Amino acid sequence: MDITGIRKDFPELEQKVHNHKLIYFDNAATSLKPFPVIEAIEEYYSKYNSNVHRAGHKISSLATIAYENARKKVAKFINAESNDEIIFTRGTTESINFLTDILQDSILNNGDEVVLTVMEHHSNIVPWVELRNTLGIDLKIIDINDKGELDIDDFGKWFSEKTKVLSITHSSNVLGTINPLKKIIKEAKKRGVVTIVDGAQGIVHSKVDVQDIDCDFYCFSGHKIYGAMGIGVLYGKRALLEVLPPYQQGGGMIEKVSFDNVVYSSVPYKFEAGTPNVGGAIALRTAIDYIESTGLEQIIEYEKELLDYATQKLLDIEHLTIYGTAVNKDPIISFGIAGIHHYDLSTLLDGFGIAMRSGHHCAQPLMNRLEIDGTSRISFSFYNTFEEIDYFTDKIKIVKKMLI
Ligand code: PMP
Repeated sequence: MDITGIRKDFPELEQKVHNHKLIYFDNAATSLKPFPVIEAIEEYYSKYNSNVHRAGHKISSLATIAYENARKKVAKFINAESNDEIIFTRGTTESINFLTDILQDSILNNGDEVVLTVMEHHSNIVPWVELRNTLGIDLKIIDINDKGELDIDDFGKWFSEKTKVLSITHSSNVLGTINPLKKIIKEAKKRGVVTIVDGAQGIVHSKVDVQDIDCDFYCFSGHKIYGAMGIGVLYGKRALLEVLPPYQQGGGMIEKVSFDNVVYSSVPYKFEAGTPNVGGAIALRTAIDYIESTGLEQIIEYEKELLDYATQKLLDIEHLTIYGTAVNKDPIISFGIAGIHHYDLSTLLDGFGIAMRSGHHCAQPLMNRLEIDGTSRISFSFYNTFEEIDYFTDKIKIVKKMLI
């Protein structure tokens, strides 16, 4: 890949931070945006900003066509069987809340069990804890081994005849672990369990094929795959979407309304009440075009090389521990250095222009499991370079000398 050329597409990389060239290693939180995505948003708002589906005029039909083309693009990108299985949301968090909301009105009852894993992000924990408190469901939490891989050899341990839902992350935003989704989902399906995948990280670094994974639902956010903030996706199998109740009520999701009765629209429109984020959907389509024209396979391969290189360099640093050493890993490295608080490390590295994360990464139960209060985290994208990793590890050594 022509990394020098690619970097020119991302204007944020041009800037200096604290008089140093920006090194952006916080990609798991959100990705930078390439020019085509920024231009797609500008073009929509300056040329054909209009509400979709409802008006007969020219610019509304342009907006509607572009919005529906975005749905088609997403469907093809994740290999959904039909465009109607793609629902636009605000992001992963809303997609999961959407599901906990409609499942409590349909398939979940007091005493039912929901299986999660200890490595979930808060967005796939908090809504379920709320349901436990309000509806009286039970939560079963799949544990990890020392490498940060799921303990799934004995599936019977986590599942029972009361299990109704499995909601699991495709990959961990802390450990980087890529979970063996197909294997887990196959076991869950044997038991008639509804399966939900939090794909917030997985969509970024894998070729997702929802039919092959065979999950019932797959959730992700546009902003982590070079799209805008405020747009996300909930993929759902059509057969389930047909029978589930709507998430929100209002305009755009109805066939007929009277004060006595409401007839809902068909799937997916019954799940998209109100004015959608049309510009966001169009930008998401452009982001997917960008990924495809760069080459997803090449991106994945290059990011893996960055991961391996950075892992080796970090392991050479004394007193440094890496959390998450799974065989199958996304390009995310969480680590700690004995004697240095993760906040101090990220603050001092910021002074060298390095943007990285420190803290619990919205995964406090995982921090408890690891018996730590937080980690430093770097996460790569295909615009990062080996030279940036060298610069980063050199600066860690300087900070170590300052603090220890
Ligand atoms: N799940 C995982 C694994 C994540 O990494 C994130 C974002 N950090 C989310 C869910 C939530 O995504 P969003 O904030 O875009 O809704």
